[in-house]
Amino acid sequence: SDRRYRYPFINCTQCGPRYTICREAPYDRPNTTMQAFTQCPDCEKEYRDPASRRFHAEPNACPACGPRLHLIHSDGSEITGDPITQACSLLKAGKILAIKSLGGFHLACDARNSQAVIRLRERKHRDEKPFALMAANLEMAQRLVHINEQEKELLTSAARPIVLQRRRQDADVASEVAPGNPLLGVMLPYTPLHELLLTEFAAPLIMTSGNLSDEPIVIDNADAIARLASIADALLLHDRKIANRCDDSIVRLIANQPALLRRARGFVPAPIEVPGHFARPVLACGAHLKNTFCLAYNNHAWLGPHIGDLDTHEAARAFEEAIVRFTQLVGVTPEIIAYDLHPDYHSTRYALTRPASRHIGVQHHHAHIAALCAEHRVETPVIGLAWDGTGYGTDGSAWGSEALWVHGAEFRRLATFRPLPLAGGDTAIRQIWRIALAALDDAFDGKPPLEEMQLFRTIDAGPVALVRQMIARRVNSPLAHGAGRYFDAVGALLLARDSACFEGQAAMQCEFLADPEERVPYPFSVIAGDVSEIDLRPTLRAIVTDLIAGHAPSQISGRFHATMAAVAATMIKLATDQFGSLPVAISGGCFQNDRLVTDLLRDLQPTRQVLRHRLVPCGDGGLSLGQALVADLLAVQ
Ligand code: ZN
Ligand code: FE
Repeated sequence: SDRRYRYPFINCTQCGPRYTICREAPYDRPNTTMQAFTQCPDCEKEYRDPASRRFHAEPNACPACGPRLHLIHSDGSEITGDPITQACSLLKAGKILAIKSLGGFHLACDARNSQAVIRLRERKHRDEKPFALMAANLEMAQRLVHINEQEKELLTSAARPIVLQRRRQDADVASEVAPGNPLLGVMLPYTPLHELLLTEFAAPLIMTSGNLSDEPIVIDNADAIARLASIADALLLHDRKIANRCDDSIVRLIANQPALLRRARGFVPAPIEVPGHFARPVLACGAHLKNTFCLAYNNHAWLGPHIGDLDTHEAARAFEEAIVRFTQLVGVTPEIIAYDLHPDYHSTRYALTRPASRHIGVQHHHAHIAALCAEHRVETPVIGLAWDGTGYGTDGSAWGSEALWVHGAEFRRLATFRPLPLAGGDTAIRQIWRIALAALDDAFDGKPPLEEMQLFRTIDAGPVALVRQMIARRVNSPLAHGAGRYFDAVGALLLARDSACFEGQAAMQCEFLADPEERVPYPFSVIAGDVSEIDLRPTLRAIVTDLIAGHAPSQISGRFHATMAAVAATMIKLATDQFGSLPVAISGGCFQNDRLVTDLLRDLQPTRQVLRHRLVPCGDGGLSLGQALVADLLAVQ
């Protein structure tokens, strides 16, 4: 009998959209996309009554005056009847739906239906990247994944992130949801629309970002019809505009501590407090992959939502638009602009064309460690390990396995890995067999027993010779120090996999493969110097010996992870010998690896202070916070 019975846009002062409907500050109805809806007398009365739970609930609405759902076929024709009931029957029939959600569109289908999931993969051009699921409630989630107390708290928190958790053997979902992945990303409903849909559907749905691969998530109806109609069979739309794009956030427990892998909905635009900083407003433009930007002023740092990789024209435009919107929303005009040293990043080029009193370049790995210092409010020196895929070094080469001494705006490079040549640059990061070949040639002085390895049985002699020629003649074969590249090389060998569908895939699979009981590191050596070099050639040789002897890949991967943890501990020891027992800060995408972090924490003295990310991602999604801090420190010098 309630006038809002089954109304998908119900809300009160405690819940409902904010950031995604807010056009400018302050957060008042006329400044939101609810401005288009005039409240009916009943709603208006609640809105003006201080005793009502809807007193100044800015998105207050009801079926008589508020936003409405409608369902259309992908050809634009209207589907009559109750939109939720009709949407559920389409989903039950294996159809793919585009659903307008809070911060953008989702693409949804029945997670139990292999045919539907395969069709979604084909139409979305998404090979193997896992899809996220939405479960109706905690009980349904518990039938999909193993949930511990910490994960339960994350799942049911108001932010409602996607939580990556261990899949149950008997989980009733199609294997195509997350191929070869022991984890499933699950979230619970976070809008009334989701509640209604999931309650009626009564089974888990795939809910993945509504976009074409690598493009930003679609937020408006016309765009959805133009871009998503080729993927979806029908579209569940509504007439409330989304002002700000905001993807679902992703969290995973890493060594028993929640780590944000993607920071967006539920976390943005809440500021991170950094006392004593940002007397002048700073804009930090972030990196190229998994981009976020950061606006900082007066002890606060606001990270913008996850934008994604800035490879496409659409992503670059979304990045620029989001910065304009965000500066309006926060009400801050940047005076100092920070950017990555890589000259070809879109974020760098954008930074340098924007007016500001100062433009300050910040080295990538320095920024990773500085982000940790900002989060933990550490002003004293730290020993930083920044391990990732790549980041532009001060010498112009690709760094990525750095041990640094960092004190605010200053840093020194203490150690790194022996670099590997990437034949074809970015091509090698997709065709990981090229990195494996480079690592083996290096370890075996050009004469590795390729024919004895399964990976190379599938690769013709022609391409092998070509890659060797490129490396020998140094044609488009930059040297790269990234720790991630060693994970690529070893992953390719262990999985007998010649290519990766997305950055870090081989490393991820390598982690999942690793036998937790295998803890004996392989040998490696250290060449001491101004910048010490970690030489993993002995590791590679030992891995090849084990592979040829028929040891299980799970065993080798376990020992490889133990080796990488031992390398990290060695780097920390080198730094400690020189600078004393400073706090250790670990950052960079490689430390999203639960096994690596668990081993490293076990290897370090229990008394040693280790700073890990809690508020921003340890990958490049957290970089802008560090850039902002370093730029602020340099600007006041
Ligand atoms: Zn009303
Ligand atoms: Fe990085």
